[in-house]
Amino acid sequence: MVTFEQLKLNAALLKSLDALNYTLPTPVQAQAIPLLLQGHDVAAQAETGSGKTAAFGLPLLQSINPGLQQVQALVVVPTRELAVQVRQELKQYARFIPNLKITAFYGGHSFRLEEDSLAHPPQVLVGTPGRLTDHLSRRTLDLTNVAQVVLDEADKLLEMGFEEELDDLLRAIPRKRQTILFSATMEEDVKELIANSLQDPRFVQASATAVPDRIVYYGLKVQDEQKPQALVRLLQSINPAGTVVFVNARLTTTEVAQHLQEHGFQARALHGKLEQSERDKTMTLFRNGTASILVATDLAARGLDMDVVQQIIHYELPQHQDAYQHRSGRTGRAGKSGTVYTLLSSRETQKLEQWPDVQVNEWLDLTELAADTSVPMEAPALTTLHISGGRKDKLSPRDIVGALIAEVGLKASEIGKIEIQDRHSFVAIPEEAASAAVRKLSAARIKGKRYKVSFVR
Ligand code: AMP
Repeated sequence: MVTFEQLKLNAALLKSLDALNYTLPTPVQAQAIPLLLQGHDVAAQAETGSGKTAAFGLPLLQSINPGLQQVQALVVVPTRELAVQVRQELKQYARFIPNLKITAFYGGHSFRLEEDSLAHPPQVLVGTPGRLTDHLSRRTLDLTNVAQVVLDEADKLLEMGFEEELDDLLRAIPRKRQTILFSATMEEDVKELIANSLQDPRFVQASATAVPDRIVYYGLKVQDEQKPQALVRLLQSINPAGTVVFVNARLTTTEVAQHLQEHGFQARALHGKLEQSERDKTMTLFRNGTASILVATDLAARGLDMDVVQQIIHYELPQHQDAYQHRSGRTGRAGKSGTVYTLLSSRETQKLEQWPDVQVNEWLDLTELAADTSVPMEAPALTTLHISGGRKDKLSPRDIVGALIAEVGLKASEIGKIEIQDRHSFVAIPEEAASAAVRKLSAARIKGKRYKVSFVR
């Protein structure tokens, strides 16, 4: 067993890993980190959940010169959610490196704000291809000092049609650079990208540990037309909090979410065609428990690392085994335990049986699923409030807790998760206190200032 110290990571990074309680490197980290620190181009086959972000992130951070205010490393990711997540994760690792700026650029939010932030360029920039090339064509972004570039989830980048954007980005970066590619699969198009963009690459393949062992897989045999009732029944038999239901088509997300709402569940649809603000809102509501169930397509949920995910339900089987494993990997992450349920028609059962790396630990009989009375189905009901001020207004969670206690009379223990963003904040509170809270907080001052307070619906 190799340790993080033996991988020759510096003291600041070791300190943050210690603070995060990472005791040992994962297989992909053990293999990739030494190669990356030696400066090799690396092509790695690894999935979300394998620890891939730290595998490229730690060596990348070690190579940055914090004294130089230039974009030195670029991480290209397929989705905005992944951009936000990778940035967050890198920031955690960089906690003890002073003066290091890590920024994320992605479509759907203000171009101007991004442009303004380039007045003091970050050393590490994470972004989606479309938005990054936008910056290039408007000449707002200088990539000529980039020495390291990461193509994260390369298979997805290509699948989403970003080939041209990748070309443009790589052409804007000096040839003398370290190029790093991570991909869940190594199809022909990915191999081609490696051949065209990496120099003398070293290959790393993390063994099939992408879906950790501590996931328990349950199968339920139901015909297609019975699936809506079966899903309700299943959710009534478990604690539904923190459930992601996967479906194959965008339209199905809204149908299924609506069906669940009609049966009293706090369910929300998440798909790639929603407005950015709507997706952000849905994620906030899921993270803070106001919505207990997300009904999502693969694309929408890809790369999401959410500690709140307790279980996955495959409402439909995806086309390929890879996608099935990806979906399943949203739970049981990094050694936590997780549960996966799969609703299978006879056609789908046959298909699943042909996937060599997939197993069902136990088959459940729908008629025997008893409603679980030990967990109140959807309690306590929460409502999320939107407050029109955030980090830029110097609001902190303490200010919001303070106002809710002083103005609304809530107890600290009743206040749920608080999320402070740049210009707004969200807080989850008990539903029955919500109307009074909106009224009283709107009339009050928080840290001496008036804010608009409203419900998030
Ligand atoms: P990723 O595959 O990059 O999406 O990472 C999966 C999760 O594992 C993330 O939540 C990381 O914070 C966590 N993680 C990464 N490396 C380690 C490690 N060596 N020990 C424990 N957790 C880790």
